[in-house]
Amino acid sequence: TAIMEKILWRRSLQLHAQQQAWQESLEGRGILEFRQSLPAYKEKDAILTAILQNQVLIISGETGCGKTTQIPQFILESEIDFVRGAVCNIICTQPRRISAMSVSERVASERGEKLGESVGYKVRLEGMRGKETRLLFCTTGILLRRLLIDRNLKGVTHIIVDEIHERGINEDFLLIVLKDLLPRRPELKLILMSASLDAELFSSYFGGAPLIHIPGFTHPVRIHFLENILEMMGYRLTPYNQIDDYGQERMWKMSKQAPRKRKSQIASAVEDALRAADFKDFSPQTWESLSCWNPDCIGFNLIEYLLSYICENERPGAVLVFVTGWDDISSLKDKLQSHPILGDPNRVSLLTCHGFLASSEQKLIFEEPKDGVRKIVLTTNIAETSITINDVVFVLDCGKAKETSYDALNNTPCLLPSWISKVSAQQRRGRAGRVEPGECYHLYPRCVYDAFAEYQLPEILRTPLQSLCLQIKSLKLESISEFLSRALQSPELLAVQNAVEYLKIIGALDESENLTILGRYLTMLPMEPKLGKMLILGAILNCLDPVLTVVAGLSVRDPFLTPLDKKDLAETAKLQFSRDYSDHLALVRAYEGWKEAEKDLAGYDYCWKNFLSAQSMKAIDSLRVEFLSLLKGTGLIDGNATSCNTWSYDQHLIRAIICYGLYPGICSVVPHVQHNEKSFSLKTMEDGPVLLYSNSVNARESRIPYPWLVFNEKIKVNSIFLRDSTAVSDSVLLLFGGSISRGNVDGHLKMLGGYLEFFMQPAIAEKFQSLRREFDELIQN
Ligand code: ADP
Ligand code: MG
Repeated sequence: TAIMEKILWRRSLQLHAQQQAWQESLEGRGILEFRQSLPAYKEKDAILTAILQNQVLIISGETGCGKTTQIPQFILESEIDFVRGAVCNIICTQPRRISAMSVSERVASERGEKLGESVGYKVRLEGMRGKETRLLFCTTGILLRRLLIDRNLKGVTHIIVDEIHERGINEDFLLIVLKDLLPRRPELKLILMSASLDAELFSSYFGGAPLIHIPGFTHPVRIHFLENILEMMGYRLTPYNQIDDYGQERMWKMSKQAPRKRKSQIASAVEDALRAADFKDFSPQTWESLSCWNPDCIGFNLIEYLLSYICENERPGAVLVFVTGWDDISSLKDKLQSHPILGDPNRVSLLTCHGFLASSEQKLIFEEPKDGVRKIVLTTNIAETSITINDVVFVLDCGKAKETSYDALNNTPCLLPSWISKVSAQQRRGRAGRVEPGECYHLYPRCVYDAFAEYQLPEILRTPLQSLCLQIKSLKLESISEFLSRALQSPELLAVQNAVEYLKIIGALDESENLTILGRYLTMLPMEPKLGKMLILGAILNCLDPVLTVVAGLSVRDPFLTPLDKKDLAETAKLQFSRDYSDHLALVRAYEGWKEAEKDLAGYDYCWKNFLSAQSMKAIDSLRVEFLSLLKGTGLIDGNATSCNTWSYDQHLIRAIICYGLYPGICSVVPHVQHNEKSFSLKTMEDGPVLLYSNSVNARESRIPYPWLVFNEKIKVNSIFLRDSTAVSDSVLLLFGGSISRGNVDGHLKMLGGYLEFFMQPAIAEKFQSLRREFDELIQN
């Protein structure tokens, strides 16, 4: 060890000399000057002293003040200055993979190094770090995974948890684990960083840990709501509190001041939305139409109008456009590229910023455009707080957001876009005032903004807890509910119980809440357990190709489009993929057709003809690859396999695998004949009668020759609607509904028996149960 210490000492001295040389070089001095201009730099000494004196420190400061790029760097530099460079080990977590990657690159270049030397990054399936890496940026999921194998984080000296104001479920989870770890590792330092001022919550969670606030500065930003935008177009949206000719009370009125043909499409769409609400209601629901982001929707048209307005009439300055997700970004980009001004590379540099960005494109968004060219960046909510583009003067805000990260451990990837909070809207607005007074266009009326929630609820309080519960179990922690009761804000006991109950039903936990073998495999697959189950069985039964498509399809936005004006055509188009009473199998056929067409570069035409979303198809294509490599990571399939498909074309088997994943999402099909016409009704055990979503292939059938449907999702509107469904037979339900693992046979039988008894004669149910018991005995022997 004495030799070891000597080596480390020598290495530390080397690092110190290197760092000094860089800081004294011409280039290094230039960068230092920029860094010193950031507000965070002024707090450098205070921050380093506070870290020295406390185990936990909380830092808040406005977005762009230099938290993410500077503070980890201050710590690294100071460690190197104190000749501890070779022994320090700093980990900084980011909620999204793209920020881990872009920030590490930035920090490495500020240190005059290549990525992978003293600064590196690690995200799922990708990384860049070397033996000498002392500061590692990684996603929160990566650190949680490391905790699985290394409970005490041996050798780590500093942990920085960034963007805690977002209150993602992973970050909340990590904080509970770290809070437990701190007393075991008294020399470990924990630094939490937040973009908002509500840092007291975190301070009191960590026993009154000190707070440092970095004061920032932004220029004033002028705010425009939809009313003001319409006015720019020559329309006036006014409160109009009178009885109209038909005796109806109208609260709002659109009037034309100077109608111009080109823009009337937008105004009339707004008017339609108003009409749909009887001219009374300005609730967010009424404005849903603003966010049906297909190329002809009102939201895209508004954006196009405003962008060309800004390009023609406004002072120089970059434009940041917030839309909901990367699929919107790419369709919006397609649309704008055919515009005479916005598509002209001599006038506009049209860039995108989202989780799947290649790093070459990433750099462009920070660069200054050529003279006379306006930079326009289409972004997801990533640019709200985690990525700062300096020269933004104009912001367009669609008012919605969708989680786009597939990296999260607890992942519900097919989240629908939802309205943002007031705090988010203010953050978006603030992006416009960094260099000079800016303008922000909110693409919704003022009263919709007024109806936004103040803050968004923390994710742990609003999402299903199934995957989280599995993670807790895999960390070999105590009882799930006890563990979660120590969270920053604990989820309701009922939500926890529901999740645990669900995990027992699907066979991931046994009766005494221990992970089953299935459960252990599921923790290796960062996705909803039901999707993980399908992948696992698909791999075991050698039927992976279609199952990968089904699972990827359930993880993206519905690829079957139903434009409101062509609903019938679209639904008919979907029917041609349907032969066997399954939306999931219809998707498999649609995808395979697209894949064929892509070979002749005709994928886009194929989508257009068949009312499919090309973006969703591409997303499915890349997710399939990702899921396959995740499965390889579990060891269930051979690392070299490109697919395993012996039984891929057996639709009964695919049906069984879908049933295995979606159980207990099941409903019974009750056929009846009325006036000589065949039809059927549907029932679930929990809700009684339910209906099918109109674009389900099963909704077009007059009879379904199977007694059951398994479904992915229920939506409650006025009645309860099922989205995608697949018909299955008694025997499939019996054999594949739930788990066939040894641990919970009894619980499972009780559950399945409950279903059967509810819908059938008890005698038949009993017969099924004894069959099932025989089957289980067979398996176990
Ligand atoms: P915070 O985490 O407080 O929001 P950051 O540390 O991310 O702030 O960014 C600080 C500043 O560094 C930004 O205002 C921006 O000017 C600059 N910056 C960050 N990343 C890059 C990059 N990749 N390229 C150029 N400048 C960057
Ligand atoms: Mg940051």
